[in-house]
Amino acid sequence: MRDLSGGPRVLLKRLRELMAEPLEPQERLDRIVRQIASNMVAEVCSVYVLRSDGVLELYATEGLNREAVHLAQLKMGQGLVGTIAASAAPLNLSDAQSHPAFRYLPETGEEIYHSFLGVPILRAGRSLGVLVVQNKASRNYRDEELEALETTAMVLAEMIATGELKKLTKPGLELDLTRSVTIDGDTYNEGIGLGYVVLHEPRIVVTNLLNDDADKEIRRLAEALGSLRISIDDLLSQRDVSMEGEHREVLETYRMFAHDQGWVRKLEEAIRNGLTAEAAVEKVQSDTKARMMRLTDPYLRERMHDFEDLANRLLRQLTGYTGRTSGDGFPADAIILARAMGAAELLDYPRANVRGLVLEEGAVTSHVVIVARAMGIPVIGQAAGIVALADNGDAVIIDSDGGHVHLRPLPEHQRSYEEKVRFRARRQEQFRALRAVEPLSKDGQRVSLQMNAGLLVDLPQLSESGAEGIGLFRTELQFMIASTLPKAEEQEQFYRNVLKQAAGRSVTFRTLDIGGDKVVPYFRGHEEENPALGWRAIRLSLDRPGLLRTQLRAMLKAAAGMELKLMVPMVTEVSEITAVRELLQKEVQRLSRFGHGLPRKLQFGAMLEVPALLWQLDELMAAVDFVSVGSNDLFQFSMAVDRGNARVSDRFDTLDKPFLRILRDIVRAGERNNTPVTLCGELAGKPISAMALLGIGFRSVSMSPASIGPVKAMLLGLDVGALSKAMHEALDDTTTPTSMRELLAHFAETHNIPL
Ligand code: PEP
Ligand code: MG
Repeated sequence: MRDLSGGPRVLLKRLRELMAEPLEPQERLDRIVRQIASNMVAEVCSVYVLRSDGVLELYATEGLNREAVHLAQLKMGQGLVGTIAASAAPLNLSDAQSHPAFRYLPETGEEIYHSFLGVPILRAGRSLGVLVVQNKASRNYRDEELEALETTAMVLAEMIATGELKKLTKPGLELDLTRSVTIDGDTYNEGIGLGYVVLHEPRIVVTNLLNDDADKEIRRLAEALGSLRISIDDLLSQRDVSMEGEHREVLETYRMFAHDQGWVRKLEEAIRNGLTAEAAVEKVQSDTKARMMRLTDPYLRERMHDFEDLANRLLRQLTGYTGRTSGDGFPADAIILARAMGAAELLDYPRANVRGLVLEEGAVTSHVVIVARAMGIPVIGQAAGIVALADNGDAVIIDSDGGHVHLRPLPEHQRSYEEKVRFRARRQEQFRALRAVEPLSKDGQRVSLQMNAGLLVDLPQLSESGAEGIGLFRTELQFMIASTLPKAEEQEQFYRNVLKQAAGRSVTFRTLDIGGDKVVPYFRGHEEENPALGWRAIRLSLDRPGLLRTQLRAMLKAAAGMELKLMVPMVTEVSEITAVRELLQKEVQRLSRFGHGLPRKLQFGAMLEVPALLWQLDELMAAVDFVSVGSNDLFQFSMAVDRGNARVSDRFDTLDKPFLRILRDIVRAGERNNTPVTLCGELAGKPISAMALLGIGFRSVSMSPASIGPVKAMLLGLDVGALSKAMHEALDDTTTPTSMRELLAHFAETHNIPL
């Protein structure tokens, strides 16, 4: 065996020349394998490429029977080649035939070769094929030879990824890279979107693979590593991450990787073998990823993401990448794919072009999801592994009604979703036409249809949906998406903006409802075993009166000269309302003492979410100007089902008699006491349940803006008097089954009411 010192460099130099020559793809591949075989003094060198049907097809060979090219094939996981592709790990064997996975392919004539070295052709940790060298003599290939073959495999990965080999695929077959895949995740916001992939953290495509001067590249690497380390230290020393918490942990991990000598050594070795600094980062990243993907320990797999992020940062340093160019090249129909994302980053995208958001992580309650919901974008989370499988510009469909993401969809998928989207658009058009129509039932009952909101991005929907006002403004959202506690002036400015954009329509602000599932990063209480029943909302506000008074003051100042409607969440006892009223009075006095303008009218309300209030209804109605039923929480506490736990949250029907009777009692108490009652939970947003609410006496409801159209369409066709009669009879009847859903559906069907 010839001494290989300088071997890989010579080989890469020759490959570079071959890549530059104007050759047909098959000819180029043939010459590449010949070159590798001769450089590595191997009798055989072969390339297998993975097809979308999971088959590895022999694409070129030097040494094996040439007739077998494009005929010899192995399934993923089958034989040595299939094992390498499936495990994304090399195999180095002195006696290939004694390996349990060995499989003899008679057409290739490979039985005479004993030693075998095969490496996966990797891109972003994913196998695209396998590169093999074989020798007759029984021998063990050295580490440098393995390294050289891996480096060479990168060149082939590039050929596959750029589509150069497409011409060689048999008609009707595709390469694996373009395979259609469906990934299932969790629905965080419903809807369907068709478009093209925009990777939030764009993968840097390294086109400059081979270096001329290894020392120069090592210097470039050292510089980039130096700046990377400094930038991480800078981030760590910033005030808002210097506390304990997840963010800090991630950065600490970055720092650990950035100083890891093993990593740096591998990078330098790849450069010495002929790669540019950026190609070396990509190679080591791909190898590490392939290795780590096989780990089952979730903690270590999580660290893989951190490592990837770090390698991407380094790549950006080396290639001088300065960020996404907005405008040009941004698809008109963009579906954004990210591992995770901050809320502010989503707001940076051109809203009109974003058709969907897919996250590998996330939770319904994460900030970016809250913002995406406010923007009305379909969202799927927990879509494991999608970022690695996708490329910028790939066609993609997000179906968050079913929780699927179809990447590079098949034509029939594409067609059926296009039809769905057209159907939805037609319905939206019909709803839009109802915007200016008076919300009157068929028998002349007027119903106030309001919308829920929480961010400024929600406000345009007020006129788009035709809502009468904002029945619930969740003020905690401003706190949840901020990295530090919003200052008094920021809160005031924010409320002022909301009122300004509402342009005279009424806005009901709810005071901070944090705690429970609403996590504010800089305001952490103690770990709680039952956070939904814990220190949250009004309880927290009364224990931290400074926080509440600041908010009340900001609202009072922002609404100077206008009407201010505000309400408090999660009230359990009437005494809590009295306590907040006292604080409010103090703030009013304080402001007038200092000569500030005050709201023209003040309306003070309470949310009814805790069942204990049901036995204080008359006291409650007397203590406030209005009551708003938070049906999400009231249902969760009444039925003892965690609203965030999909296993139980739908176990009982909101339209069964018990819950409807509770709601009816509340309406009756309001009528008795002349106190307006409204409802602002999700229940109001579904036409069938909104219909039930009207039947038991509600004349005001607040819902997500997208629901206003469908609910109004239902209202216009409804004879409320007739429905009320039927519902009261059924609710008073203790001998019939508890479900009211059937009665409601039947009523709608026989009266031609669109649900
Ligand atoms: C509710 O509980 O119904 C409600 C409207 O409040 P939130 O969903 O914000 O808890
Ligand atoms: Mg609530």
